[in-house]
Amino acid sequence: MIYLDSAATTPVRLEVLEAMWPYLTGEFGNPSSHHELGARAQEGLEAARAEVAAVLGCRPSEVTFTSGGTEADNLAVKGIALARRAADSRRNRVAVSAIEHPAVLESARSLARLHGFQVDVVPVDSVGRVTPEALADAVGPQTAVASIMYANNEVGTVQPVPELAAASRAVRVPFHTDAVQAAGWLPLDVRALGVEALSLSGHKLGAPKGVGALFVAGRVAVEPLVDGGGQERGLRSGTENVAGAVAFATALRLADAERTTSATRLAGLRDAFIGRVLALVPDAMLTGHPTERLPGSASFCFPRVSGESVLLELERRGIVCSSGSACAAGSSDPSHVLTAMGIAPVVALTAVRFTLPGTADAEELDRAADAVAQAYDAVASLGTR
Ligand code: PLP
Repeated sequence: MIYLDSAATTPVRLEVLEAMWPYLTGEFGNPSSHHELGARAQEGLEAARAEVAAVLGCRPSEVTFTSGGTEADNLAVKGIALARRAADSRRNRVAVSAIEHPAVLESARSLARLHGFQVDVVPVDSVGRVTPEALADAVGPQTAVASIMYANNEVGTVQPVPELAAASRAVRVPFHTDAVQAAGWLPLDVRALGVEALSLSGHKLGAPKGVGALFVAGRVAVEPLVDGGGQERGLRSGTENVAGAVAFATALRLADAERTTSATRLAGLRDAFIGRVLALVPDAMLTGHPTERLPGSASFCFPRVSGESVLLELERRGIVCSSGSACAAGSSDPSHVLTAMGIAPVVALTAVRFTLPGTADAEELDRAADAVAQAYDAVASLGTR
């Protein structure tokens, strides 16, 4: 099998398993317990928080562990919007880009449905970029929070986050970015990015599924979504997933340390893969930004064939990839990301996404590109028969 679906998830790294193991076994204490075992769990948790904070360039108290990227996005969008409106009743709008992950889009829709907010959807251009001007047009004195993702999960386009955050700051609107796909590949220093909030997920980085984190700048108020015993400074009640937090922190630290070297290597391999696919399948159309894209991301539309059929043909040839985002799996609707970029719905239904793991090598990517051409020919010949 050649696994080219790393934006969906990644295997757990051995170093991560080793780091979390003690907290699943001997050091199994509850961090809230007052005995020695609890204190050691608490120490493990706080060391993990400090490790995450070091990568983000923030204070440990600004890091909240969550159950993953989805919860981090919900807490940022809903939590900041609700707190901001509670402080200033005029702030009853939220701004999100048209290509956000459902964790952000549905959070905004839920604010509209349950709490009477208005949602301003910021458009993207044909390569999936939000311009600072487009964001500036969408935010104002009524906006409670703006949320624009760092890098898109379907097409890999990277947003100009510092410029977008500055446009938001100019009208005193807290800026959140979903960095779930960016982590491990792009710089995460929150002060350099200028963001007030940033979401992360463990399983895209070599940690297990079900753990993530949200950075929120200390000065920004957040309404908690989960009430209870007041863990995580009251922002996220519930007994902490200590082993998960340790795993997440280890994976993030390792990925960030390897980041520049692996990103350069992978971008070279990805460009060769894109070049080979485009040469072998002249009909194929690369989607997303030609250069400002995640190093492991290559997504195409194959006009006139169904993306799902290409996927099945690829799987028969041992290549695992996806037709869009894993989160939209099971849906036969065209991708909201591609249609927002101006791609016709019938073309959007032909999308296939390849997201390369950091361990990819040139030989297997050549084989994968050849398999893409064979799969495309197989599906196209069926269609014309
Ligand atoms: N945001 C983006 C951009 C994603 O790609 C994903 C997962 O695919 C999520 C959020 C959700 O993260 P999780 O699976 O940890 O809930």
